[in-house]
Amino acid sequence: MEKYLSQLNDAQLEPTIQINGPMIVIAGAGSGKTRVLTYRIAYMMSKGIDPFNILSLTFTNKAAREMKERISQIVGASEAKNLWMGTFHSVFAKILRIEADKLGYPSNFTIYDTQDSDRLIRDIIKEMNLDKDIYKYKQIRSRISSYKNSLITVRAYFQNQELIEADTMARRPRMGDIYKEYVERCFKAGAMDFDDLLLKTNELLTRFPDVLAKYQNRFKYILVDEYQDTNHSQYLIVRALSDKFQNICVVGDDAQSIYAFRGANINNILNFQKDYDDVKVFRLEQNYRSTKNIVNAANSIIDKNQTKLEKVVWTANDDGPKIKVNRSLTDADEGRYVASTIFDNKMNYQLNNSDFAILYRTNAQSRSIEDALRKRDIPYRIYGGLSFYQRKEIKDVLSYLRLIINPADEEALKRVINFPPRGIGQTTVDRLIVAANGYKRSIFEVMKNIDKTDIKVNSGIKNKLQNFVTLIESYQVLNQTADVFELAEHVTRTSGLIKEFNKDGTPEGVTRMENIEELLNGMKDFVEGQKELADATGSLAEFLEDVALATDLDNEKEDADQVALMTIHLAKGLEFPYVFIVGLEEDLFPSAMSMNTRSELEEERRLFYVALTRAEKQAYLTYALSRYRWGKLVDSEPSRFIEEIDEQYLDIVTPIEERRFNPMLDADIFGDAPEQTRRPDQSQVRYKPAKQPVFKKGKAKTEPEKYQPSKPKNLKPVAQANGSGQQTVNLSDSKLVVGNTVKHIRFGTGEVLKIEGAGADTKAEIKFQHGGVKKLLLRFAKLEVV
Ligand code: ATP
Ligand code: MG
Repeated sequence: MEKYLSQLNDAQLEPTIQINGPMIVIAGAGSGKTRVLTYRIAYMMSKGIDPFNILSLTFTNKAAREMKERISQIVGASEAKNLWMGTFHSVFAKILRIEADKLGYPSNFTIYDTQDSDRLIRDIIKEMNLDKDIYKYKQIRSRISSYKNSLITVRAYFQNQELIEADTMARRPRMGDIYKEYVERCFKAGAMDFDDLLLKTNELLTRFPDVLAKYQNRFKYILVDEYQDTNHSQYLIVRALSDKFQNICVVGDDAQSIYAFRGANINNILNFQKDYDDVKVFRLEQNYRSTKNIVNAANSIIDKNQTKLEKVVWTANDDGPKIKVNRSLTDADEGRYVASTIFDNKMNYQLNNSDFAILYRTNAQSRSIEDALRKRDIPYRIYGGLSFYQRKEIKDVLSYLRLIINPADEEALKRVINFPPRGIGQTTVDRLIVAANGYKRSIFEVMKNIDKTDIKVNSGIKNKLQNFVTLIESYQVLNQTADVFELAEHVTRTSGLIKEFNKDGTPEGVTRMENIEELLNGMKDFVEGQKELADATGSLAEFLEDVALATDLDNEKEDADQVALMTIHLAKGLEFPYVFIVGLEEDLFPSAMSMNTRSELEEERRLFYVALTRAEKQAYLTYALSRYRWGKLVDSEPSRFIEEIDEQYLDIVTPIEERRFNPMLDADIFGDAPEQTRRPDQSQVRYKPAKQPVFKKGKAKTEPEKYQPSKPKNLKPVAQANGSGQQTVNLSDSKLVVGNTVKHIRFGTGEVLKIEGAGADTKAEIKFQHGGVKKLLLRFAKLEVV
């Protein structure tokens, strides 16, 4: 037997060496599903299967890269290179390029990212004179996305009375018209959005049997990771491609299905056995990732879900420490707790920053954590924010490049036609758009043939338009000989972009320049890298495709030693030795928007299961009793998920109010942090009994009482704060009066301007001689009347 196979247990080995026929591996987190897929591919190749015939679909490009690397180690890099491996979007974008003309698209079609889609939708709403408060572009985008992922084309939409009624009921009777306009505009611009990459692939495979046959024969073996999160559109593609040979292997965990809100359909995994004949089902039970405490705690959580496949997960790993639960007063305290725990662990156990991950439900939560990490000088990196390629200056450069490849690209054109400013005003652009729509041509074509159109613009403007056309055309000529790097370098210089960003001299301007430099570096890298690949050309089109499909997880600098911050959704499939799950509060996690039905709540619970099972050695659960949300301080109660964990696996940390504050680290209690990060009035901070969850009408009948959150067990109410101990000088009984001169340990001497609030919440506004006016909580402020 091949040596690498000995790195699998018996249960893993079985599906690994079973090459033919339909099969599914259903297993809990950390049990080696991804490992099975990886080794299975290596095994297939060692049995002589041509890598060209293997298609492997992963959830992120990063996962694909890692798999390929591992396979290269086993079978050799030159063989592994030929595997088709990547996300659905990246694999099918490549296929669509080859087949684009069949669908009436140019092979150099542009891929619109979410920003492009949003801008286009906003423009359409404006052009149609619709109320943008009713027609919210983000909601419209997500509607369009869900139609596309359910394969509801514009035509199908207008034939579907139910959909039309639903949108009319939602006060958006023009939804269908927007959808139609959006689709037409994308088509005219030679652009596909992310959902089109799947929708058009489906169209291709259904409308052209010969094309379907070609790819069925090509992809004789198909493997899919994270199958539980495939949507309908992806499901149909896999179904169609595997129909002939039925050599399909999917792995997944129904308990980790967390993308229903984006159209993922858990039934794909539940129904797999009905979709194919003689499906072999494999189960893995041994978890290799986590300690016993983590595995058992995760089991006790997912047990609460009713909709699930019964599974066993156990581990032979150590018990490990119990899961730490920490209560903080505020989100700022929570941040401090996380930062100081990381700091202590690093010191005590010689750990790297990259051993830690901080996971949250919503991106907004990162702010308070970041503040605390910065104070401790702990390097961190946020994943899933604005990706590098979506920054303004980068998109500006890329828009020029996109126009070179596809001058019809409307969003790119609108972005740079007058940037840097060249005297082409919005009125002119609006006229061009109207004309382009009228002539059913691209804006660029209309500009090129401006004399043959009836657009009324003066000769000065005509010249400017002509110059822009000439500029882009000159780039197109250069593109025939120069590589991506040389071209981009030339473009940034001659378009005036560099000059524009250089000229303001502000720190932002400098950052923009650095980013552009980074982009150019990346291009150089790309050009060099592509030289090694047999089938790659290093072309601009290829570069732009990589960029369009890059997720933030992909731009990662692998060598950087940083704490990882990301949403739980993004953390799927990953693992870290130490994991903090923060903001475990009712209405935040589970999210207030996901508590209307049992199925929504169960999805939140699965999300929690995913979060907890990312941890290898130790998990920390934290919550704050009050938190700034939407600019307001709101009271919160501990998440029901904490209470749902079997108590024996938990270690409830000393309540925060008994912790001592370190004046050096908790500097903001002295008033130098923005108002909203400050400690709240502690008298408000107390535990409230869990609210009755809300039900949608009609759903309540089915399962009402089961939704009752369990009563808190060991999460005791916080004692009323008394400001005891700590570095307070007891001035809260208002010995201080307006006009007093005071001395502060750090700010020096100042005059009291105003006193407000009472008791523990008494604040004073003090004008310091150096450092300006500050509002201080007297309970904490170290003041001395002089
Ligand atoms: P998830 O559900 O989170 O995606 P998974 O089922 O895909 O998890 P893997 O990521 O493949 O699990 O494996 C979890 C960890 O356990 C990895 O670090 C992997 O290398 C390790 N592992 C899996 N199987 C074995 C084994 N037989 N021996 C040693 N380590 C293993
Ligand atoms: Mg996995």
